[in-house]
Amino acid sequence: MKKEEFKSGFAALIGRPNVGKSTLMNRLIGQKIAITSPKPQTTRNRIQTVYTDEQAQIIFLDTPGIHKAKNKLGEYMVNVAEQTLREVDVILWLVEPTTYIGAGEQHIAEKIRGCGTPTILVINKIDTVKREDLLAVIAKYKDLCEFSDIVPVSALTGENKKELLDTMIGYLEPGPMYYDEDTVTDQPERQIVAELIREQALRLLSDEIPHGIAVSIESMKEQRGGRLVEIHATIVCERDSHKGMIIGKHGSMLKRIGTGARAGIEALLGAQVNLQLWVKVKKDWRESDFLLKNFGYYDDQR
Ligand code: GDP
Ligand code: MG
Repeated sequence: MKKEEFKSGFAALIGRPNVGKSTLMNRLIGQKIAITSPKPQTTRNRIQTVYTDEQAQIIFLDTPGIHKAKNKLGEYMVNVAEQTLREVDVILWLVEPTTYIGAGEQHIAEKIRGCGTPTILVINKIDTVKREDLLAVIAKYKDLCEFSDIVPVSALTGENKKELLDTMIGYLEPGPMYYDEDTVTDQPERQIVAELIREQALRLLSDEIPHGIAVSIESMKEQRGGRLVEIHATIVCERDSHKGMIIGKHGSMLKRIGTGARAGIEALLGAQVNLQLWVKVKKDWRESDFLLKNFGYYDDQR
């Protein structure tokens, strides 16, 4: 029997904030790369993750949400997302399992129709609805757009993960293995470390702050032959009042953020971590080109 040719290609994961993109990505790869939180717009950077099995390699782009831009950071995110749609071999559009189609969905549907790339509608969170309710959701979306395929999944439980992968692989062409089979991401370690710290801050802080914070890693030094890594990082916020909240009473909040982040960083690096956190105020950093670049929010990886 002739062995099937190895396939490879790029996939974009899009969908409104909080629909479960990062959770699905982590589930597909089987490892925590993209951070997740119950708050929208957790993901700012285009994170590449790589799925490899015997028959195919899929390189995923975890795109920021497509929405109307409100400032420079928002503009950047929208541009990255739209460009990605045209470049990839297949698009996964992740939606909530409801029949309500809002302005956000209409907006995404428009972008999809215009980009000419095969699109799989992925209805997520099916663990939260009854089977029979799913049919109405499918019917509603079929009216909105012509999809190449429709696959219901639960990113949380992993239900239908295999079916989704097989469907995606169906849209890939024979191609090389771009990354060796152990690679799950090409994101620099520092950036993941910064994201893990930001994730803890988002989880622990009140809703007033999240969009206004960024994390920069000042230094990462291996000690004791790599068994210990000393990390110095700064959480940047927009207001003095935010700084106070991030630090907390006698430093208690900062300590909680550090403790939570450290566990994830130790798992990532496979080493003990000594994490030192600072907090700085930089007013209006989201409007500044210079600062956005400084925090790595520009796309110069490709
Ligand atoms: P993103 O903004 O699209 O990346 O969304 P996240 O992956 O950060 O997920 C947002 C929230 O939805 C988190 O609290 C997840 O745990 C939750 N979530 C994601 N997928 C599922 C799912 O299949 N079922 C349920 N019940 N919750 C999910
Ligand atoms: Mg996300």
